[in-house]
Amino acid sequence: MSVLMSVIGQIPADDPGLMLPHEHIMSKFGGDPVQQAEYDEHALFSAIVPYLQKLRGLGCTAIADCTSAYIGRRPDLLRRVSEKSGVVILTNTGWYGASGGRYLPPEIGELSVDAIFHSWKAEWEGGIGQTGIRPGFIKTAIDGNHLTAVDRKLMTAAARLHGVSGMPIQTHTGNNPKAAEEILDLLTSEGVGADAWIWVHAHYVLEPIHLVRAARRGAWISLDGVHPQRADLILSLCRALSQEGLLGRVLLSHDGNAYTADGACRPFDFLMTGFIPRLMKEGFSTAEVNALTAANPRRALSIR
Ligand SMILES: [Zn+2]
Repeated sequence: MSVLMSVIGQIPADDPGLMLPHEHIMSKFGGDPVQQAEYDEHALFSAIVPYLQKLRGLGCTAIADCTSAYIGRRPDLLRRVSEKSGVVILTNTGWYGASGGRYLPPEIGELSVDAIFHSWKAEWEGGIGQTGIRPGFIKTAIDGNHLTAVDRKLMTAAARLHGVSGMPIQTHTGNNPKAAEEILDLLTSEGVGADAWIWVHAHYVLEPIHLVRAARRGAWISLDGVHPQRADLILSLCRALSQEGLLGRVLLSHDGNAYTADGACRPFDFLMTGFIPRLMKEGFSTAEVNALTAANPRRALSIR
């Protein structure tokens, strides 16, 4: 039986409900790095809980929260949000190496792959901080079109942690096809299959051929910029991958944020309210829509 590791524990992966593989329930992105982010909990819960209840009403039953360590990750608050809203939430281990590395530990230069691996593995085995809450996936992030020495250390640690935990790896990559190729090569050399890897922000890629190539290798293609203004673009990428028989590798999400550093909401309901109807109108079958919005993300985020 395949499972998801959620903030309320292990659950079967094969629920028919819709799952959003890349959102932020809340974050402090843009602010200074923080070990333990503080939120105005009253404001947070009053903003987030009704919003997630609304999403649940629209058929969304699970969300992967991609807010990583130092950017506002609070598994204990996520668990309370999950219990109050009834939406399954996954949190993550790993470190965010993009944004010039400002959200990495200051001593990152001296840390060995082994040290990084052990610090993440401790979260997998014993829970994050004192919460006892285990991560459901590994999150990393890169900036450039070639992997730096730090990127390589983080990706190698991620590959090794996948090896012992079965957690999938989501890497903020964007329009960096060369880096995506290097990541897949690195994973191969560590004995990790490409299907353990999710190319995050892949809708920024200008030529779909790069996505087709990575999907053919087995990677997950995360078109996580679903938004009214990008509906045509995301639709055209879905078509390009569908024409190659690769719809089974595609993920859809919004990269929304229900509670940003300034308390504003970057919504993540358009998939349900606008984009799914659009896919149906454009000729995608119910089975294809179900794959894109439920089966694929649940497979991609399952522990193997
Ligand atoms: Zn994100």
